[in-house]
Amino acid sequence: MKSAGIISIGNELLSGVSLDTNSSWISRQLLSVGIPTISIFTVGDDVKIISDTIKQALNKADIVLITGGLGPTDDDLTRHAIADVLGVELKLNDELLSQISEFFKRRNIRMAKTNNIQAYLPESATALANPVGTASGIMADYKNKMIVAMPGPPTEMMPMFKELVLPKIEKYGHGQVVLTQRMKCFGTGESVIAEKLGDVMARGKNPLVNCTVSGGIITLHIVAAAKTKEQAEDMIAGEKNRICGILGDIVYSKEEKTLAEVVAQELLKRGKTISLAESCTGGLLAKMLTDVPGATGYFTYGWVTYSNEAKISQLGVNGDTIDKYGAVSEQVALEMAIGARQRSGSDISISITGIAGPGGGTEQKPVGLVYIVIYNGGAKKIHKFVFPHSREYVRQRTVLTALNLLRLEFKD
Ligand code: ATP
Repeated sequence: MKSAGIISIGNELLSGVSLDTNSSWISRQLLSVGIPTISIFTVGDDVKIISDTIKQALNKADIVLITGGLGPTDDDLTRHAIADVLGVELKLNDELLSQISEFFKRRNIRMAKTNNIQAYLPESATALANPVGTASGIMADYKNKMIVAMPGPPTEMMPMFKELVLPKIEKYGHGQVVLTQRMKCFGTGESVIAEKLGDVMARGKNPLVNCTVSGGIITLHIVAAAKTKEQAEDMIAGEKNRICGILGDIVYSKEEKTLAEVVAQELLKRGKTISLAESCTGGLLAKMLTDVPGATGYFTYGWVTYSNEAKISQLGVNGDTIDKYGAVSEQVALEMAIGARQRSGSDISISITGIAGPGGGTEQKPVGLVYIVIYNGGAKKIHKFVFPHSREYVRQRTVLTALNLLRLEFKD
């Protein structure tokens, strides 16, 4: 399987003046055609460091993609570094020079002499047209590997990558079909998943398994390269089964479904209805469950009972329970779930009460403390959590956890 290395060039990236967004964008684009990025470097405007880094990246990667340093000023040294790596001289490309002069003529601007350097290419390299600016890209072969340099500004780099570079990369990888599919996990950390999967996540294997995390959801990307699409699909299916065998219930979708979609599917399959009594999540769970088309098939009521008064009047929570145990307690969570289920007549109810923060925590009841009750059939299950981080994280994590708890109920 072909792999890529990315180099972002510019002193402004090292000093923190500009953020390197090019490399993450490029690596996502590459992954979509099944090419993993195995290294990303950020280097300053120094020709020796740039050429050393290109050589280092070429050691392991088949394709090296560079952004930045193609401008007309003395600190734009990418073309010099590529020439050094290739062991060739820079040569004036007349066609490129007339394209650059045309660019200025069209805009009625005088072309500075310094722009001439942008018409120089390493011998044996080809130019990549830049309709947006004066910095052409550079493409060169190096011992059956590919070196590509593109301008730094994302508005110039992105169209050049999509229109001129990606098709060449796909052709370069010709002879193999590369497919990527994803599966979703929840309920543990990425390090635990990596530990459990062990060799499954080893680098350089085919299929290759990569892992990304966002908001507690862990996505496993399975990339397979094969002679035919069917072979690649079979390889991915086999790897997915292997992963499910190891991770068990941690995998909530072998496709790319959301937790809410998976829960909705289970509710519909079982013909069950659900009601919600939310406090600290302010209706976020109701939103997630009703985001799924066809929610009328299972969703009955959702209460946001933020105040004690609302918990008492809308759900029938006993005022004495609140006085005795506090609004964030398992007793109140339990009465909220009972009230929601009785008043809605639904098969299942979920209640949530907690302290999202940043204020309101005490030693006994810290910020992040959350009670979730799942009242399903005859059983009322109380779950207690203390989630870390921000208010947003606590709320988001709470609703995902509630959905996951309900999903696991259906496994019992
Ligand atoms: P030009 O000089 O014609 O603008 P260039 O190829 O020389 O093109 P640089 O001078 O290196 O590009 O960068 C120009 C600007 O592009 C930077 O100031 C920055 O705003 C943006 N840029 C450069 N590299 C990156 C990067 N890796 N990620 C995001 N933005 C970048």
